[in-house]
Amino acid sequence: MAEVKSIAVIGLGLIGGSILKGLKNKGYELTGVARRKETINQALAESIICRGSTSLDIVSDADIIFVCTPINIIIDTISALKQITKPKAIITDTASLKGRIMDFVDSSEKPFRFIGGHPMAGTENKGLDSSSEKLFEGAKWVLTPSKGSNNDDLQTLGSVIKKLGAEIVIADPVQHDKAAALISHMPLFLSQALFDTVNNYSDKDVSELALKLAASGFRDMTRLASANPELSKDMLVQNKSNVIKAVNELKKHLDGFEKELAGNEEDFIKTIETIASLRKKMYSPDGKNIL
Ligand code: NAP
Repeated sequence: MAEVKSIAVIGLGLIGGSILKGLKNKGYELTGVARRKETINQALAESIICRGSTSLDIVSDADIIFVCTPINIIIDTISALKQITKPKAIITDTASLKGRIMDFVDSSEKPFRFIGGHPMAGTENKGLDSSSEKLFEGAKWVLTPSKGSNNDDLQTLGSVIKKLGAEIVIADPVQHDKAAALISHMPLFLSQALFDTVNNYSDKDVSELALKLAASGFRDMTRLASANPELSKDMLVQNKSNVIKAVNELKKHLDGFEKELAGNEEDFIKTIETIASLRKKMYSPDGKNIL
């Protein structure tokens, strides 16, 4: 395992900021790159970086670089980084989708040490102000090694990620994107559709009353609908085929579920008891996935 002295983070928002806050005081020299100078100034004022810039050149001597920009500029950012970083540098990202990024990296003429990443933690908020040192504690963190990376690189990056309190899961990028459609992108899409349905319900008076009465159940079910629209759009559009496949399967499942509701009451209660028990076993009281 290689020694890691300096770590750079590109994109100092919810995810990049949380990585920096989680690694603060852990013995690394931390560098930040953002789009706006104000973000760099804020990160410096909060002492979560010791140097920062709006230019990528500042990360040229980093041992590990986390790319935490919006999804649609990750490939361009990686492309630029491989020209300026040292050969031993490990480049990783945090994008919610892995297939397209890994295809790009693995088709690169000259292989470089890239390991795709996706921390399975987040909120509906964006920006440095929303970041937290504890965001990744107890969270799964997917890693998708590229052809140019080796086991030593994986151990080196893994040792840093573990310091954030996350648990590493190695996955195939294509399988990851299918799974992410099921547990992240379809729920986002449904949350938006649910809010929209209630808001545009055919009986306007009932719709208005419902929105006025809505409490924690509706709030929990529609939390994702208030997520960062730019990120939501990127996830849904770029994972469109997997999301549509998942939604079509859900529609079929809903038909069956509706029939069960209309049918025998005892059978229906058994079904929802099983669902409730499986769902309860999945998360700890503090909300962490314990599967
Ligand atoms: P965010 O809060 O909106 O932060 C994005 C950051 O990227 C901002 O600090 C912005 O800088 C910076 N940025 C934008 N364009 C840039 C550029 N051209 N060069 C350098 N920096 C640039 O987004 P986020 O939620 O942290 O998401 C970042 C990545 O993590 C995305 O790829 C997303 O898929 C992934 N992710 C998100 C979540 C989640 O729940 N949000 C969970 C897991 C993974 P300024 O502040 O200067 O504008």
